[in-house]
Amino acid sequence: MRTFVHTAQPARVVFGSGTVDGLAEEVRRLGGKRVLLLSGPGRAEAAGRARTALGALVVAEFGGAAAHTPVEVTERAMAVLREAGADCLVSVGGGSATGLSKALALRTGLPQVVVPTTYAGSEMTPVLGETHDGRTLTRSSPAALPETVVYDVDLTLSLPLSTSVTSGVNAMAHAVEALYSAGGDPATDRRALDAIALVAGALPRLAADAADREARSDLLQAAWLAGTCLAGAGTALHHTLCHTLGGAFGLPHAETHTVLLPHVLAYNAPSAPDVMRRIARALGAPDAASGVYDLVTSLGGPTSLRDLGMPESGLDRAAELAVVTPYPNPRDLTTDGVRGLLTDAWNGRRPQGPATTDTVLAQLTEQVVASFARAADARLRDLLTGLVRHLHAYVAEQDLTESEWARAIDHLTRTGQLSSPIRQEFVLLSDVLGISSAVDVLTNSRTPDTTPSAVLGPFYVEGPPEAEHGSDISGDLPGTPLWVDVTITDTAGEPLDDVIVDVWQADEDGFYDVQLPEQEGPVLRARLRTGADGRLTFWSILPAHYPVPGDGPVGEMLTAAGRHHYRAPHLHFMISAPGHRRLITQLFVSDGSYLDSDTVFGVKDPLVVDFVPRTGPGPDGRVPEGQWRLLEHTFRVAPLVL
Ligand code: NAD
Repeated sequence: MRTFVHTAQPARVVFGSGTVDGLAEEVRRLGGKRVLLLSGPGRAEAAGRARTALGALVVAEFGGAAAHTPVEVTERAMAVLREAGADCLVSVGGGSATGLSKALALRTGLPQVVVPTTYAGSEMTPVLGETHDGRTLTRSSPAALPETVVYDVDLTLSLPLSTSVTSGVNAMAHAVEALYSAGGDPATDRRALDAIALVAGALPRLAADAADREARSDLLQAAWLAGTCLAGAGTALHHTLCHTLGGAFGLPHAETHTVLLPHVLAYNAPSAPDVMRRIARALGAPDAASGVYDLVTSLGGPTSLRDLGMPESGLDRAAELAVVTPYPNPRDLTTDGVRGLLTDAWNGRRPQGPATTDTVLAQLTEQVVASFARAADARLRDLLTGLVRHLHAYVAEQDLTESEWARAIDHLTRTGQLSSPIRQEFVLLSDVLGISSAVDVLTNSRTPDTTPSAVLGPFYVEGPPEAEHGSDISGDLPGTPLWVDVTITDTAGEPLDDVIVDVWQADEDGFYDVQLPEQEGPVLRARLRTGADGRLTFWSILPAHYPVPGDGPVGEMLTAAGRHHYRAPHLHFMISAPGHRRLITQLFVSDGSYLDSDTVFGVKDPLVVDFVPRTGPGPDGRVPEGQWRLLEHTFRVAPLVL
């Protein structure tokens, strides 16, 4: 049985849409006849709505409310209040405007009508934190508690998503701490869990549609419920840390709550497992700490203290300040423990799961590895078990979430669906990840006497048209004429007869024939055969640099990573000599672009060659107009048996 004392905070709450229009009536209910209207900078429109609703009741206005209720601001507002002879306070705005109203009420005993426009929840608490000369003094008094709170969803529609996220998590933090604080009780628990579920459900809906009034309504209700939790149950490590960082390092209020909450949850988790389970259920997540973290990241909210401007050198001091005065918290507070928590928050790390996870994962990995143990093909067994070990390690190391894995599967699925004989999206994926080049390095570094290989790329098409020596494979496409004169030899330099050489390349705009909608049939690709001199010659055009296809999942990935899509200009060769290893390679134009940042990592120094500018008649007597280029090269291929 749980024993408790519950003190209800006696505020009147008016909730709805357009409720600000009833402000005059709310003021009169409190006996007010002369209103001082308070707001913060940037809240002019909301203050205007309140002014219109209050009409002649407004005798003065003060629009200078500031974060953390600086005493000098309160003193200026006090002067306005006295001068006007106000007998009632109405504030419109976030926690800053509410704080100013509470500070004035404490000094004068005047009644307050508070209209919150964020989810900070201060309006439901008797607590006031005031700053003076950089120091914060927090006190709690029934005199600070507003008599009436008017929640108007309409006034929150202008709150940007980013502020809605941080303010919503600020509300969630009040609810979380109430669940394990010393002053909790069953009624507070229920409101806290409702508030957490409302925030977790509403923020993603708001991200999808900023004008979703139901989502706004849920968030404002959560703010109210969470505010009452904060008022009734008190706080622990999380709020202490937020105040410490806000006071000592000037970090912004709601953002600091947002960054710290997952880490405080992770810290307290071992000592409050039941509470964590209830929070996780309210979040709809498997684990409370990572559930909050994932919610924040999915909404683009802040995750690291570093990004909020916290100096790394301040972490030790912050940890010491947070534990210097004892206060109730589910888990014992140690400087080292809090320092670790702050370091994770500073780096923006996703909180670790429960310690048991490592053991469970290790067992799972061994179970899957064992399932391949009886594979008859030993190489297949090694490939599969190695793959499993690396993938499991990757999942653990990156602390992969379900939605990230679902996204990866969707990416691979779409990559497969887009692949066809003329669109090799999977080859492209392998290329841009550098895997094609890694396999290529492993395979071909073993044959140093041969011409280096390069990736196949996604544009090879089986069975290109046969071409005669000296023919033109450009199909009359425009471009700088290119005379190609290459020789195929073995590693001793002996020319090789009857070698099949497939060539393919992009046009002067960087497109392959399979990408040209108007192009019927193959062009800029051909199959030629060497004679006894190992030589072959043909006309083509100078290839241009080009982007790899950007309209598929691989293009999306490159764009998301801020990588350019370009390949350095090159000519592809696939050389199949009887009794020799097939050589797939490329020759890169030495004065071309992107040689040092080729997006598929295909460039190797020995493959960068001069495409020499020439004028006048070509080697076969043809006289191209203007400049043409000459490519001469010798390929050395390795015998099949080394
Ligand atoms: P805030 O009042 O400073 O508002 C944050 C920003 O949002 C401001 O720039 C404000 O102009 C803007 N804004 C507010 N409403 C808006 C709207 N509807 N549309 C567009 N912009 C809007 O900050 P906050 O996070 O609401 O409150 C933080 C302050 O409240 C801190 O000083 C904190 O200490 C205090 N607080 C006190 C308690 C308590 O119980 N005493 C509880 C929570 C917060």
